[in-house]
Amino acid sequence: MSFDYDLFVIGGGSGGVRAARIAAGHGARVAVAEEYRVGGTCVIRGCVPKKLMVYAARFADDFADAAGFGWTVGPAAFDWPTFLAAKDREIDRLEAAYGTNLDRSGVEVLRTRAEIVGEHQIRLLADGRTVTAAHVLVATGATPVRDAGFEGEALAVTSEEVMNWPERPQRLLVLGGGYIAVEFASLFNGLGTQTTLLYRGEEILRGFDLEVRRHLHGELSARGLEVITGDVVARLERTPEGLRATTRGGRVSTHDAVVLAIGRRPSTAGLGLDRVGLALAPNGAVPVTGTAATALPWLHAVGDVTDRVALTPVAIREGHAFADTLFGGRTVEVSHDLIPTAVFSTPEVGTVGAGEEDLQAIGRGYDVYRATFRPMRAVLAGREGRTLMKILVDAADDRVLGVHIVGPDAAEMIQVVAIAVRMGARKADFDATMALHPSAAEELVTMR
Ligand code: NDP
Repeated sequence: MSFDYDLFVIGGGSGGVRAARIAAGHGARVAVAEEYRVGGTCVIRGCVPKKLMVYAARFADDFADAAGFGWTVGPAAFDWPTFLAAKDREIDRLEAAYGTNLDRSGVEVLRTRAEIVGEHQIRLLADGRTVTAAHVLVATGATPVRDAGFEGEALAVTSEEVMNWPERPQRLLVLGGGYIAVEFASLFNGLGTQTTLLYRGEEILRGFDLEVRRHLHGELSARGLEVITGDVVARLERTPEGLRATTRGGRVSTHDAVVLAIGRRPSTAGLGLDRVGLALAPNGAVPVTGTAATALPWLHAVGDVTDRVALTPVAIREGHAFADTLFGGRTVEVSHDLIPTAVFSTPEVGTVGAGEEDLQAIGRGYDVYRATFRPMRAVLAGREGRTLMKILVDAADDRVLGVHIVGPDAAEMIQVVAIAVRMGARKADFDATMALHPSAAEELVTMR
């Protein structure tokens, strides 16, 4: 049987674009369909614009701290529309670069929604054509959950709309306690918005080491972010004063905007996977084994739509490995262990490996090494706030099982530490490494 394409990728985000380019590089005839903008969540409405917003927010600290080092800084003011325009230019530039790279790789980019209509068959909604492909890769990502289950929830927006707000709210309520909630609450607090983070659980960032969660909570509160735990919104209503939120716990507060950051759901609705008999997980995820294999030999999936580890570098790795394996003549596996990750709050969190609670859950004996200190810059700046670093070590064989950092540059440090942890470093290896002085990172090799 002959097909129009060797590979048809649905979704032009991180995972799909990488798979398409690598497959084309191996000589495959490849098309990628994208209904919105090439680049996907990370580039268009996720990691990249978020990080730009984080940078914008952190200038407030720089201006404030500079005085302690002898600088006289004039009155500092932040203009949201100016930032937004700059952010949009950068996203446009990145999107264009993605398009150029796809073109150069020989991938056909189809600006259309695509749906599966039968085995090996994809309908392009823009022109109604049906095309065929030997292999189809679903890389459609995920979308924010909007059904929070309270009255008036439609008055709230998600992180995606925040990226295009015409003006910055003066009073903001962020609902949730995961990555997105913590990052957005923190950055708007930095930009000068009076911000409240409301989380239903006992402590923000469930899944992270508990001491890290508590430490971050304290640091965020000390920076003026109101963090409320153990409560949820029961009702949201528009009043002349703004959006009034009433919680189950009886709190009433009024805000200019309310952001729902209560998770993301795999984007498979209307994709036609039911037409080819593919059973989805209850949350709509495409179940996969290995790198990208679904229950159907011609259908594959990578990235957030598989609901494994919803991180851009993971999707990229999966897409790359998938294409190498299918078209490059070599089987490449993707390890989902020891993935370093960061929460870009201020201060930020960087973490790799297990937290204390993870080790307790599996009954693994461990030792804790810990350093808390005031960063050097903070002293002259007159800034309170402490960095926390924590190394968890296997009590039996000295192997480093987890490293956790809350403080400036935690993400940068943890990326490099992750190499050592991945290589099976022992605490003795950390100890034998000479310190680099003066740095915050030197604490990682001087903990005793
Ligand atoms: P998460 O799954 O991380 O967090 C969702 C949060 O919403 C949790 O705190 C959850 O509470 C809470 N929640 C869920 N349902 C409700 C509800 N009905 N009412 C109130 N609260 C609710 O999702 P995010 O949207 O923050 O992020 C999605 C994924 O994107 C992340 O898991 C991460 O993989 C990725 N991401 C990574 C980033 C990074 O690397 N820096 C940045 C942003 C996103 P509970 O804990 O009780 O379940």
